[in-house]
Amino acid sequence: MSHACVGCGQCSNACPSDINVFELFKSVAHDTQAAFEYSPGTDENEPPPLSVFYEKEFEEIVGIAKD
Ligand code: SF4
Repeated sequence: MSHACVGCGQCSNACPSDINVFELFKSVAHDTQAAFEYSPGTDENEPPPLSVFYEKEFEEIVGIAKD
């Protein structure tokens, strides 16, 4: 969900317990989308994160890929 959230707020409106889940999703989505340099809905041809694998992605976390 965090890669696709556009911040519409409808999740909070739909929550039967009036939990403001939007604030949580918005916060997590901001960090996820920044990490992937992805903005949902801006380019229909851009594949969403986690649907593609880039060998040299997040090397600072997983280490340098060997060629
Ligand atoms: S704000 Fe809530 S309903 Fe809207 S896109 Fe984000 S998670 Fe989905």
